[in-house]
Amino acid sequence: MKTIFEKIIAGEIPARIIKRTEDWIAFYDVNPQAPVHVLIVPTRVIPRIGEAADSDSVLLGNLLLAAQNVARELGVTESGFRLVINHGSHGGETVPHLHIHLLAGRPLGWPPG
Ligand code: AMP
Repeated sequence: MKTIFEKIIAGEIPARIIKRTEDWIAFYDVNPQAPVHVLIVPTRVIPRIGEAADSDSVLLGNLLLAAQNVARELGVTESGFRLVINHGSHGGETVPHLHIHLLAGRPLGWPPG
């Protein structure tokens, strides 16, 4: 069974794509929690961060750099942004395909709910 993100990567369902490379894709979250809410998703499926392996280290580093890059392109580096990875039920994970949330465009509360 493909995840919803695999379907977006395959072009089977639409998404507002910002940028894509061979290794990752960045698109707007369909249910934004901030004025800027983007997901950075690896094209290769790792279900969740807790299942990443040592061999994923380059990909994981590239995902952080991708998020930093998208933040810059969207002009939110100066005002600030937050990167979030949800793992498991208490973490709030709903799609079993690793992704980084990039949230920006308003002051974000801390601690999170
Ligand atoms: P998480 O809860 O951390 O697993 O995040 C999953 C995110 O995917 C949520 O913020 C959803 O709003 C978002 N999402 C689910 N379906 C889609 C979709 N078709 N296009 C864009 N974002 C989606």
